[in-house]
Amino acid sequence: MRIVIVGSGVSGLSCATLLLRAGHEVVVVTADPVERTTSALAAAVWFPTAAGPADAVARWGATTYDALVAEAAAGVPGVVMRESLTLLREHPEPDAPLPNWAAAVGDVRPARPDELPPAYPAGLRYAVPLVEMPRYLPHLRASVARAGGTFVVRRLERLDDVLDVAPDLVVNAAGLAAGALVGDDTVFPVRGQIVRVANPGLDLSVRDEHHPDGRAYVHPRTTDCILGGTLDAGVWDTDPDPAETEAILARCADIVPALAGAEALESLVGLRPGRPAIRVERDDTLLPVPVVHDYGHGGSGITVGWGCARDVLDLVAAVD
Ligand SMILES: Cc1cc2nc3c(=O)[nH]c(=O)nc-3n(C[C@H](O)[C@H](O)[C@H](O)COP(=O)(O)OP(=O)(O)OC[C@H]3O[C@@H](n4cnc5c(N)ncnc54)[C@H](O)[C@@H]3O)c2cc1C
Repeated sequence: MRIVIVGSGVSGLSCATLLLRAGHEVVVVTADPVERTTSALAAAVWFPTAAGPADAVARWGATTYDALVAEAAAGVPGVVMRESLTLLREHPEPDAPLPNWAAAVGDVRPARPDELPPAYPAGLRYAVPLVEMPRYLPHLRASVARAGGTFVVRRLERLDDVLDVAPDLVVNAAGLAAGALVGDDTVFPVRGQIVRVANPGLDLSVRDEHHPDGRAYVHPRTTDCILGGTLDAGVWDTDPDPAETEAILARCADIVPALAGAEALESLVGLRPGRPAIRVERDDTLLPVPVVHDYGHGGSGITVGWGCARDVLDLVAAVD
């Protein structure tokens, strides 16, 4: 089939990769170059955040975890396995179950006291994929182009504008804009502010989801660290807030004392594509050709990207 994919973030490019492998002709229509998508800005660590429903996210997340582990092993640009520490503010009950995400990760163990920063009684250690999006997305884009996919930079006013390209099927992977394109008013922004600092030699990702001043995470990359962050549902403002930058620097220094006094290289804001439930489904009501949706990934687009794209592939395969 001749398939038009709307969107060249992680969702659109993952779908493009799999659909090309399955032998389809693919045209990616995108309003923005990959470098200016929300995906390009993401931290971007495998870790389910602000996305549902839980059972589907767990399934998509497990598939994506395995795919990213394989990419890291194969040396795909930007994908590494990152040792990680989730800090806990209280000792868990002796029989407390591990968090949902632990099933996909497999090897999750209690942190030793010498692995914890001051004032934290407990934590969990594990390794997850971390994706340096400024390297990974251009790699995905180039792989799609090498496999014969073509790109059109164009902002669609309405979904049926794609009919000019004469598709047999359309994949709607337009992120936060996906809902407006198809009249779905359940899509909302989840504003995230992050801060980039120089990497002082860190190689451990650390997070405290329950810091009293807000979420705190530190994700070391090759030359910098991403410090976060905020998760503000319904907020459209994309200007970084200087007071929030200072607050992020302060709480990240609580969880990684080596960052005390670190200076912000840059503060960035992205709007995550929120939705009560990620939408991966076929829709025959919108256009004369089938539409397959893949949007609403919230704070988990990298965490579930390959899993959702495989379901898109199955939905496309089921089209007569
Ligand atoms: C600060 C921050 C940190 C994050 N950290 C993580 C993390 O650690 N792990 C994780 O899994 N996720 C993380 N996320 C979430 C993740 O970035 C998103 O879930 C993901 O990028 C969504 O990808 P997408 O491809 O669906 O959308 P996008 O990347 O937004 O791409 C949408 C595409 O659609 C195109 N488009 C939009 N409108 C139109 C139109 N009208 N016509 C044509 N094209 C259009 C755009 O140009 C773009 O190409 C984070 C997000 C933020 C903001």
